[in-house]
Amino acid sequence: MQHKLLALVLALGVALPAPALAAMVDKPIVWNARRKALTEQYARTHYGRAFTTITPRAVVVHWTADDKMASAWNWFNREASPRGMAQVASHFIVDRDGTIYRLTPETRLNPHAIGYNWCAIGIENVGGKGGREDLTQAQLKADAWLIRHLHKQFPTIRIVFGHYQQDQARSTGLYKELVPGYHSVKHDPGPKFMQGLKELLQGEGVTVLEP
Ligand SMILES: [Zn+2]
Repeated sequence: MQHKLLALVLALGVALPAPALAAMVDKPIVWNARRKALTEQYARTHYGRAFTTITPRAVVVHWTADDKMASAWNWFNREASPRGMAQVASHFIVDRDGTIYRLTPETRLNPHAIGYNWCAIGIENVGGKGGREDLTQAQLKADAWLIRHLHKQFPTIRIVFGHYQQDQARSTGLYKELVPGYHSVKHDPGPKFMQGLKELLQGEGVTVLEP
């Protein structure tokens, strides 16, 4: 059957689609009334109005600081934080073999980067345990593929940066935060990975901040 189809495609002179560079798997985390209410509360507190849907303008790249996909997914899958607030989550997790897991719609407000959650899609990469810059080539290629894919879907995305560049990224004008002193120091995903992404995304119409 496969061969017959291939022969037909070739006979018709139709170009075969390029092989997929990355596998994307839907693996949704919980979204229920409590999580929605906590997300609205987060938006009210930090941005001044209740909302749960964003227009993506940036992509923030992270690492999970652990070596297991499941532990990150399970953590993001909690409907509330241990203190009963909005739980952290990113839109995507990229496993060490480059498999991309999609956890929420791209337009969901997910808390993953203070100051940018109102407009930023988060990509987590499994790794970085103990602060080691150990993300894989497969993850680098998958992240670049995913960001290209997202930029096609949302041309409003102009900026890509690593979480550790959160202060540098204020120069983009995208930083918004109403709570004074709400900030934490970040090192993920390290300059080596961001340098690789900057090279792979040259000429793609998005600005990757200088690592
Ligand atoms: Zn991070």
